[in-house]
Amino acid sequence: VIPFGSSQKLMIGRDVTQLSNLEKMRRDFVANISHELRTPLTVVTGYIETLQDISSLSEKDLKKHLAAMHDQAVRMQRLVDDLLTLSKLETAPPLRHETAVDIPAMLAGLKETAELLSGERRHRITLEATPGLRLLGNEEELRSALSNLINNAVRYTPAQTQIRVVWQATDDGARFAVIDSGEGIAPHHIPHLTDRFYRVDSARSRATGGTGLGLSIVKHILLRHNARLVIESELGKGSTFSCMFPAARVLTNGAAPALRAISAISPP
Ligand code: ADP
Repeated sequence: VIPFGSSQKLMIGRDVTQLSNLEKMRRDFVANISHELRTPLTVVTGYIETLQDISSLSEKDLKKHLAAMHDQAVRMQRLVDDLLTLSKLETAPPLRHETAVDIPAMLAGLKETAELLSGERRHRITLEATPGLRLLGNEEELRSALSNLINNAVRYTPAQTQIRVVWQATDDGARFAVIDSGEGIAPHHIPHLTDRFYRVDSARSRATGGTGLGLSIVKHILLRHNARLVIESELGKGSTFSCMFPAARVLTNGAAPALRAISAISPP
């Protein structure tokens, strides 16, 4: 409150909600990373202490301890890699050097990788991709987003169930979808799934090598491609994760969208 004229006072108010929300997000983020790193570090430190008295260990125990330490180190590495990817996506300038990405060919490769990941669990993975339907974008980023969604279906769906991977044109662009018949996700979790470190079942996520950052990375990549993520799920029935791409990014055989249309819908 400051004096205003001879007999009045001026009160200035400023809404700091956004600022304080941002500050809270930053604090939560640091707390989350610390927590994620502390658990594997505690395990590794524990094993190192045991190894200090190496003479009392059998060769079998030694190998077991080293393997466990290796697992934890891999987990930390994955976390740091995902954090770096996320930070690069957040700070990177809007997409440049876009190419016409052959999505059907990419998906054929990702299907093979998913089958390897499934291994003994033998999911029935099917691919229905419209030949020649390509997408203007960054190949590496698109591979990362699509593989995240396919691999999540393998990780969160019981053995031998079906996973459908679909790539098709729609009325207003193109849709990539992964349709699984897993346990599904309760409605109250769905709006939070793309939050960093949000997991429905933490133990399950960690056991399958999850960092809790996958869907955040997907969301950022889609934003950079003017696309959106739609999550539909029903408990006990399964989930569908769809990426909806705008027509300006879609190339069918022979036809190219106008590049100007893309810059018109790019975020500033
Ligand atoms: P994570 O590394 O934990 O898999 P993500 O960001 O990829 O992290 O996913 C966030 C959470 O969403 C997962 O922990 C899991 O609980 C849930 N989730 C993702 N995909 C599926 C799916 N296809 N079926 C069921 N739950 C899923």
